[in-house]
Amino acid sequence: FAPWADPTERPLIRFENVTKRFGDAVAVDRLSLDIFEREFFCLLGPSGCGKTTLMRMLAGFEQPSEGSITLADRDLAGVPPYRRPVNMMFQSYALFPHMNVERNIGFGLRQDGLPRAEIAARVDEMLRLVQLERLAKRYPSQLSGGQCQRVALARALAKRPKLLLLDEPLGALDKKLREETQFELMDLQHALGMTFVVVTHDQEEAMTMADRIAVMDHGRIVQVATPGEIYEQPKTRFIAEFVGDVNILEGRVRGQQDGLWQVESSSAHGPLTVDDADEVLQNGQAIAIAVRPEKMVIHRGEPPPDALNVLRGEVWDIGYLGDWTVYRIKLPSGAIVRVTRANRSRFVDNPIDWDEQVHVTFAPDAAVILAE
Ligand code: ATP
Repeated sequence: FAPWADPTERPLIRFENVTKRFGDAVAVDRLSLDIFEREFFCLLGPSGCGKTTLMRMLAGFEQPSEGSITLADRDLAGVPPYRRPVNMMFQSYALFPHMNVERNIGFGLRQDGLPRAEIAARVDEMLRLVQLERLAKRYPSQLSGGQCQRVALARALAKRPKLLLLDEPLGALDKKLREETQFELMDLQHALGMTFVVVTHDQEEAMTMADRIAVMDHGRIVQVATPGEIYEQPKTRFIAEFVGDVNILEGRVRGQQDGLWQVESSSAHGPLTVDDADEVLQNGQAIAIAVRPEKMVIHRGEPPPDALNVLRGEVWDIGYLGDWTVYRIKLPSGAIVRVTRANRSRFVDNPIDWDEQVHVTFAPDAAVILAE
C-alpha cells in the first residue's frame, strides 16, 4: 500500500483549513493537506501561488492566520522554528561566508557533536553527491550560484533529518546536473527513509521526483495526486495546461451513446467521442476537452475508416527536438493542434512535409473532459 492510499495510515503532516493573510492579500486560502512519512512530496504551482508561504508556516517562520498544522499528531501552534523537528533549505542559500565548503556542509554535524570521523565521512559523501569534491576548500564568495546551491543542499542533507523542506533546491543548476541530482535525491531519500517536501515551479522536476504532487493556484490546492494521475487525469484546464503540453478543444455536449460522450466541436469533422465516465454532463453544456500531443496521430491522406475523432488540417510548422518531432497542425477553424511523434529511427521514410493536408485522430480514451 502506498501510505496515502491506506486509510489506516496516519499522516505525518496535516494542514487543516489553513489561511495566511498578509494585510489584505491572501497567500494561502483555507488549505487542507495530508503528507505521509517517507513521502517525496512536491508542491507545484506558478510564482506567487503560496508555495513558499506554506513551507514557511510548516517550518515555523510564519504563523497561520487561521487553521492548524500538526506534525506527528502534535499541534505546532506557538512552537518556534528551532523546536520543530523540521529542516528547511531556503531558496537563498544562506551559507556561512567565513567557512569553506567542507565546513559549511559539516556545520550542523559539529553542532550535534558527532564524532570527527563520522563528520568527515558524511561530508565526503555529500561532496560526492553534489559533485563538489574539487571545491571543498573554497569559500562561498569563490563559487557560482549553482555551486552555492549545491553546498546548501549538501548541508541540509548531511544531518539526515527525518523531515526536510526544500524550496526550489535545484533551480540554479544547469539542465544536466539538475537531472542527475534529481535521481540522486530520490535515491538518498529512499535509502535514508526521509520525508521530503519540495517546492518547485518546474513541472518536469515534480513529475520526475515526486510520489505525489499538490498543484497550487492562488493559495489553494487544485489537485493532489500521483504524477501519472495529474498528467493523465488533470481535473481542471489550469492543471492540464500547467503540467505538460496539451491541446484544448472546445465543444458542446450532444448526448451519450454506448457510455461515451458525444461532443460537437467546431474543430472536428464530425462529433467527437470521449470516454470519460467520471464526468456528469448535461446536454448542450459547453465543455473543454484535453488531449495530450503524443496521444494524437497524424495520417497522411484519409484516416482509417473506423477512426472516431477526426480533425482535418494543414501542417503549419514542424519542430525537430531529437527524441521527438512536434507538428503544429492548423485546423480550418484557425485553431492549432500540436501533435508529437517519437523519432524511433534515424531514417524517416517519407517524412511529413510543411503545408501538407493531413488528418489527425485520437482515441476516445485519450481525451479528458475538464471542469472549467
Ligand atoms: P515563488 O515561486 O515566486 O517563490 P510562491 O508560490 O512561493 O512564489 P509565496 O512566496 O508563498 O509564493 O507568496 C504568495 C503570495 O503572498 C504572493 O502574492 C506574495 O506577494 C505574498 N506574500 C508572501 N510573503 C509576503 C509578506 N511577507 N508580506 C506580504 N505579502 C507576502
